[in-house]
Amino acid sequence: MSKFFKRTKILATIGPATNSAEKIEEIIMAGVNGCRLNCSHGSNEERDQQIEWIRAAAAKKGRSVAILQDLQGPKIRLGMIKDNHLDLKAGDEVILESKEFEHDGGYTIPVQYNLAERVKVGEPISMFDGKIKSEVIEIVSGTAIKVKILNDGFVMSKKGLNLPETDFGGDILTPKDLADIEYGASCDYDYVSLSFVQSANDILKLKQLLLSYGSTAKVVAKIETKKAIESEKNLEEIVKVADGIMVARGDMAVEAGAEVVPIIQRKLIAMCRANAKFCIVATQMMGSMVEELEPTRAEVSDVATAVIQGADVVMLSDETANGKYPVETVEEMKKVILYAQNHSKVASIAQLPVGGKSEIYDAISDAVARLAERIDADVIVCQTATGATATTMAAQRPNLPIVSVTSNQRVANQLALNYASSAFYRPYAEDFGLRLTEELKAAGYLQTKEGEKNLLAVIVSGDKNQAGTDTIKVRKV
Ligand code: ATP
Ligand code: MG
Ligand code: MG
Repeated sequence: MSKFFKRTKILATIGPATNSAEKIEEIIMAGVNGCRLNCSHGSNEERDQQIEWIRAAAAKKGRSVAILQDLQGPKIRLGMIKDNHLDLKAGDEVILESKEFEHDGGYTIPVQYNLAERVKVGEPISMFDGKIKSEVIEIVSGTAIKVKILNDGFVMSKKGLNLPETDFGGDILTPKDLADIEYGASCDYDYVSLSFVQSANDILKLKQLLLSYGSTAKVVAKIETKKAIESEKNLEEIVKVADGIMVARGDMAVEAGAEVVPIIQRKLIAMCRANAKFCIVATQMMGSMVEELEPTRAEVSDVATAVIQGADVVMLSDETANGKYPVETVEEMKKVILYAQNHSKVASIAQLPVGGKSEIYDAISDAVARLAERIDADVIVCQTATGATATTMAAQRPNLPIVSVTSNQRVANQLALNYASSAFYRPYAEDFGLRLTEELKAAGYLQTKEGEKNLLAVIVSGDKNQAGTDTIKVRKV
């Protein structure tokens, strides 16, 4: 059975390469469990349309798919570049102008933020995920600065800028984010992620706003600033207040140095597992497949490593947003995940306590995982109202699938991005749970091993009136 279900999930960014009902359906059929809609690009109308396409494709497949709204945060970006391409050479002097104007192909480039107010001469600015390095040489006016380009390359429209040494101070939510949060709360989002989080406060503020707009979305902190990873205490505070985190390796590499990223990735995955939060590993996982039909050996190893470390989710960005082979990329990624999970156990974090041991939830999940392993069960079935039981179960990283049964569609969608969980949505009724295993079998969630008649399931559930998980059952199906 484990051959069929990916325990590590795939989150795919939607962009020009996947911006149609057909392409979205194709990548979902190929194994995408969640779609990321980036507020940095495209319009609300485009995203509304994409949400419709995703929901339709999920319904067609008969599986829950999560939709994540990605908030830009205090990311500074270039404006629109003429013909979406401008070559730059080492030694070029370029003006970054924040006043609105149309780029004519020359060396005065539009930028979406008034850098003249913040930067000092001598500070580094990199552009386009660090591909172009530059240094501030002059504050030209109240709205423009001049930089000296330090290497050959090119930039494209709306590519990001990183200013690791510039102090922006204070609140990270921009007016654009506030508008995106308000609008997004009225849309069918399961998750909201925030870029460039610096402290737990940023996440608390976002949660407050979502609550005030009546959103039921869960919150993901994108970890990518120097500030966020500076101290382990700060990082852990962020992990504790968020529902999940994303190891946003692209900007983290530019801000803190590429060599820092693998170490932070390991640390964050362990921290998330210890706190029963979910963890997304993002950026360049199959990067070469933007252009090529095959991933590199290093990319395959990168995805397998994330699986073995116990990431809940591996993410695709340019590969599915912008790449030539979005569907093939998902297929390749799925292949790597399945092979890794079927030939290697998730590394233990024995030195870390898994979950707060004082919680009954965690103790029950721990017991279920051990029981399932000891009797060589095929599946853990988890009846869950809020998703909490399923999330703590997933934090154990059991070496077998978890089927979560819920009568809340939002929870079902959210669980699509949790380790090993496939969520079975079933409206609540008097007979809820009575013929559960038969229903699951009929819906294709339970599959017996080849050559075997029966399937062994460990079922964990609670009494609806008791508001808590309190029962473990073993069933031969
Ligand atoms: P982030 O730092 O939030 O990841 P990004 O610019 O790297 O921002 P991605 O969502 O990772 O954006 O997408 C990768 C690239 O795909 C973008 O830089 C952009 O060139 C392209 N892209 C993504 N979404 C869209 C869109 N809706 N419209 C046009 N281009 C897009
Ligand atoms: Mg980023
Ligand atoms: Mg990106």
